[in-house]
Amino acid sequence: MNWWRNLKGKFRLAEPLKNHTTFKIGGPAKFFLEPKDPNDLKLLLNLVKRYNLPIFLIGRGSNLLISDKGINGVVLRLNAPWFNKLSYKDNYLNVGSGVSLSKLVLFAKDHNLSGAEFLAGIPGTVGGAVAMNAGIAKDNRSIQDLVENVTVMDYSGNIKVLNKKDIRFRYRTSSLSRYIILSVLIKLKRKNREQIRDKIKAYLKYRKLTQDLSKPSAGCIFRNPTGHSAGRLIDLCGLKGKRIGDAGVSLKHANFILNLGKGSARDVCKLMDLIREKVKNKFNINLIPEVKIWQN
Ligand SMILES: Cc1cc2nc3c(=O)[nH]c(=O)nc-3n(C[C@H](O)[C@H](O)[C@H](O)COP(=O)(O)OP(=O)(O)OC[C@H]3O[C@@H](n4cnc5c(N)ncnc54)[C@H](O)[C@@H]3O)c2cc1C
Repeated sequence: MNWWRNLKGKFRLAEPLKNHTTFKIGGPAKFFLEPKDPNDLKLLLNLVKRYNLPIFLIGRGSNLLISDKGINGVVLRLNAPWFNKLSYKDNYLNVGSGVSLSKLVLFAKDHNLSGAEFLAGIPGTVGGAVAMNAGIAKDNRSIQDLVENVTVMDYSGNIKVLNKKDIRFRYRTSSLSRYIILSVLIKLKRKNREQIRDKIKAYLKYRKLTQDLSKPSAGCIFRNPTGHSAGRLIDLCGLKGKRIGDAGVSLKHANFILNLGKGSARDVCKLMDLIREKVKNKFNINLIPEVKIWQN
């Protein structure tokens, strides 16, 4: 069944998803597709519906734990040039969902626009960051602070523009998961470029100091429970350095699980279960994964 033959974008069969996640974990996607533009995406969605295939949307894969068995369905990535457009007018940036956060931060700086500096060092795309409401806990800032509106496609192929007030943003989540984010309008403030550069440097330094970037990971594995730091709770359970197979709790930041070599999703899930059990027993707190777990 060559159902994809009329699509204009790129497609690959049995694509190893470990090549598309920062964890370097994930079995093959039966179909891996990169539509050329929204028309191509709409055609793809129609076909996927017709053949009743499950569909998964991937950005930079920096918040994903994907099953070692892979995905028996379609994995969709918006990485074609159409989804990587970046433009500005006055204090507004129009950013395609495939644009990396690092590119957005540098583009804003080059145009003397401030406000996005706290995103420096987060290894995701704009689409993934808005869907996850990515941010920085210490400053209580997240991307929702910048969003004016979001252009989305629903899974029937209809495009609409959602204003900020129509979107529910919460800590590391949003109501956008039922849509495909195409682009985002962001509002920033004019500032001196040197000041913006210094702020970017400070955020990069902070993340380098506090996060464990020595080995592949998906960043923080659990969400911070209200009023607590997940990392501190895990540390107080004595779990820093705990290892199952090639998945290990970071010695630097206990809420980071590292892939120490040939780590598998199975190892990571076992380690997550152990952490949850210990934290529940000691503090009676249920840790909730921040990382999205894909299996089907
Ligand atoms: C070393 C490291 C440090 C990190 N530091 C931080 C940090 O400081 N703060 C923070 O908040 N996060 C952090 N993260 C987590 C992660 O980078 C963010 O959540 C990021 O925003 C995810 O973007 P992504 O493109 O990688 O999304 P993915 O991981 O690919 O996907 C995440 C979710 O978004 C959905 N999604 C992706 N694209 C779209 C789209 N176009 N439309 C709709 N849904 C979409 C996916 O389906 C999935 O449910 C870190 C991760 C790592 C590895």
